[in-house]
Amino acid sequence: MEQTGPLQHIVIVGGGSAGWMTAAALAQAVGPACRITLIESEVIGTVGVGEATIPPIRNFNQRLGIDEATFVRETQGSYKLGIQFVDWHHKGASYFHPFGQYGAEFDSVPFYHHWMAGHLAGEIAGPIDDFSMCWAMAKAGKFAHPSPDRRLIQSTFDYAYHFDAGLYAAFLRRYAEHRGVTRVEGRVVDVALRGEDGFITAVALDDGAQIEGDFFVDCSGFRGLLIEEALHAGYDNWQHWLPCDRAVAVPCKRGTFTPYTRSTARAAGWQWRIPLQHRTGNGYVHCSQFISEDAAAETLLANLDGKPLADPRPLRFVTGKRRKFWEKNCVAIGLSAGFMEPLESTSLHLIQYGILRLIALLPDQRMSPLLAREYNAQTAIEYERIRDFLILHYKATARDDGELWRYTADMAIPDSLQYKIDHFREYGLLVADERELFANPSWIAVYFGQGITPRRAPALAAMRSFVPVAERMGAIARAMDEAVAAMPSHGDFIARHCAAPPLAA
Ligand code: FAD
Repeated sequence: MEQTGPLQHIVIVGGGSAGWMTAAALAQAVGPACRITLIESEVIGTVGVGEATIPPIRNFNQRLGIDEATFVRETQGSYKLGIQFVDWHHKGASYFHPFGQYGAEFDSVPFYHHWMAGHLAGEIAGPIDDFSMCWAMAKAGKFAHPSPDRRLIQSTFDYAYHFDAGLYAAFLRRYAEHRGVTRVEGRVVDVALRGEDGFITAVALDDGAQIEGDFFVDCSGFRGLLIEEALHAGYDNWQHWLPCDRAVAVPCKRGTFTPYTRSTARAAGWQWRIPLQHRTGNGYVHCSQFISEDAAAETLLANLDGKPLADPRPLRFVTGKRRKFWEKNCVAIGLSAGFMEPLESTSLHLIQYGILRLIALLPDQRMSPLLAREYNAQTAIEYERIRDFLILHYKATARDDGELWRYTADMAIPDSLQYKIDHFREYGLLVADERELFANPSWIAVYFGQGITPRRAPALAAMRSFVPVAERMGAIARAMDEAVAAMPSHGDFIARHCAAPPLAA
């Protein structure tokens, strides 16, 4: 007889960031109407990185009713206004990818059209970074919340967080357990499939326990224990576009407490620097074809702010995505769904959107295959858009000092990205649709930062010569200076609102 009615028991396999974010959000969404069990194995552990985020994470926390100050305090967190990219276009060059717009709108033509027209005409000398409120704050080491008053320049920026991934999972675990999620410690050693349709009926643990469920979320990390090993969903390998496949990570004593992430290009990849309250997170993402793990670790250790606090930890991955994210009665969320390297801090975001999409399309026991189809279509598009944005960083480089950069500068890129670059290069227009995660300012930052300059500015800007552009831009620059001068330093802001207690010795 066909099963009907709401789901009775959702089983989540994996207790990294993906598992606990899923458990917390599902518990909040379904309440006591459905049992939720999370299985994790302390012996296997988690990937343990994933410390930088992008602004939508704030919506996730708000939806869960999480107080920001508590969250920052409990995760040793800090604020992030964007990413500084150092040496990406060529050694010695740097630019900032901000969370927020450039300048402020003062005409029917967007600010950046006027800026571009002035810049290409040689009337504006500096980079577009000069009109980013985020960068103005970031380089001064300042932080304050944006103003809700849209007339003020202080409303033109957005922000995200840096935090300790392990503490974030622990924080969400407390949240989820408090709302009825049952945690089971154990290693999944077998997955039982129903004979007639191949749906998962239960997972078996190493102690012999069987955990039955009617819906399963695979948060087991790169392996994809359910989605791949049991259900063979397949994987689209994107290493020909995103060739980095290793990282070494090491925390170190805190240096300058910047309210932004730094990404520094190196000969065979790039190094991240993420300041938290109790330490700075660092890692060298690299391509194993062009550098050994030992050499990457040596480079990383030679480029830290302070004393390393642990041994460098190697991580391996294959960039790409699962061919089907939802197969039968199982959805993959987190690294089990795919991984596109941490360059723009998009993994936790993909987890967040995977969860929200799952909640929006939550099945009942009939498990209509249409739900899976829609979930897979939406998720694939999201991955592909992010993929193209990441590829842009590697493709548009003038570096010639390493095999990696020579390869990426020459590589063929997806048509979807080439189309965007062609439009921008020809006349400075941004081709985007409303589902794009990275909005216009992000593309502008990376295009200009990576040396893609339009041949001419969009036509309309030249027709509006009656607009006092120079005067307006001058006023914007002055307003930015005044606003930044009045803000507290990043450290003072945290000390006042959300300082974490000192760590036990
Ligand atoms: P994991 O952390 O690997 O967790 C898997 C879970 O499954 C664990 O609890 C494990 O015990 C459990 N498990 C596995 N097998 C079994 C089994 N047989 N039985 C029971 N349990 C099992 N993301 C960002 O957003 N920002 C960043 O700055 C960022 N930096 C990154 C840097 C690197 C080098 C890498 C590799 C990733 C980075 N990420 C980043 C991605 C981010 O770390 C992950 O997306 C996030 O941590 C989620 O991981 P996960 O929970 O899917 O997997």
